[in-house]
Amino acid sequence: MARIGTVDSCLLIAYSLLAFCSFITSVSSWNRLSDGALKKLPSPGDTLHPDKGKLLKPLLIPRVVNTEGSRKALRHFTTFFSDLNWSLNYDNFSQPTVISKDPVPFANFWATLDPPWKTQERHQGEIGRLVLVAHYDSKIEPAGFIGATDSAAPCAMIMHIAKAIDGAMRRKWAKMEKDADEFEMADEQGLMVLLLDGEEAFKWWSSEDSIYGARHLAEKWESTMNAAHSTYKNHLSSINLFVLLDLLGAPMPRVPSYFKVTHWAYQHLADLEIRLRGLGLLESGKDHALFLPDRDKTVFPEGLSIEDDHIPFLKKGVDILHLIASPFPSVWHTMNDDGAHLDKQVVNDWAVIVSAFVAEWYGLEPYLTANGDGMSTISKRLNKTEL
Ligand SMILES: [Zn+2]
Repeated sequence: MARIGTVDSCLLIAYSLLAFCSFITSVSSWNRLSDGALKKLPSPGDTLHPDKGKLLKPLLIPRVVNTEGSRKALRHFTTFFSDLNWSLNYDNFSQPTVISKDPVPFANFWATLDPPWKTQERHQGEIGRLVLVAHYDSKIEPAGFIGATDSAAPCAMIMHIAKAIDGAMRRKWAKMEKDADEFEMADEQGLMVLLLDGEEAFKWWSSEDSIYGARHLAEKWESTMNAAHSTYKNHLSSINLFVLLDLLGAPMPRVPSYFKVTHWAYQHLADLEIRLRGLGLLESGKDHALFLPDRDKTVFPEGLSIEDDHIPFLKKGVDILHLIASPFPSVWHTMNDDGAHLDKQVVNDWAVIVSAFVAEWYGLEPYLTANGDGMSTISKRLNKTEL
């Protein structure tokens, strides 16, 4: 990811108005997890360890667009999400780039977990989704660049989150099929994991040389209409919140709240960090500086934004929660952005904090199991007493 830029101020005014509406609809249906439920959240354990983690280690290779490393990363996602029995999709496209007049092939990947009674194509317009997003490509220079925080670790964190909530989501839907009267339409939401290609510039970051995958997909989803009389008119409008993880995994992260329109979501996430930290459930410890320090922020400077994969979606009106460290990690775009420079505790904690957010989003408290669905729980990992 790349640089600080500006967003048109008219857009910001529009987003501010939307913020009010989002806030009203969001707080009324939020499902806060109890302390007992937080303790049951599955731990990543060693799966995000740079040397032995089965989710992260395969991604700690150069993943330049249209190379074997990129294809290996894609196969890793394909195997993982097909083992989870999610629906898989690929957006393959080719276009010239600043270093090639011949079209270069790109591949975006997404996997969805939707209510089982809504998986058929004709129901697609009826399902809104929380979307967890990261880019999986790595920068072409310097040669051999890994991009551990940029964004191998965020991709692996999202894989953990998907696995951590998969069982609870399915148990909730089984209960919905049995006792439909106890649920509301909002409970029919699906979850999407979106892993984008071509985020990095081949030469210098510009609007033409960057976020190739995101630009292509935002256009495609905006023009892919759902059936007439659908709840959501096109694929883009079925994104309830676009949560973009980037430049995460380095020590001492600080992620500000960037958008007033989604500050309500940031506040839920920041609340969860404070509660998890207070309960001693984060590996970085009770006294660590907050990763998410802006819970009580009230003033949002106009025009300040970081250019990243969310921009094409933001410009089309999608609500964005941008989880990107600012300042950027000190290893950013250097050969030191590798596994050895990741902070293992911080990596695990990000995965847990965002898992908790997803569990609250879907109201999963009754469906979490005491054994962390076989992954062990964060309280066991930290030798706390189970409730
Ligand atoms: Zn980058």
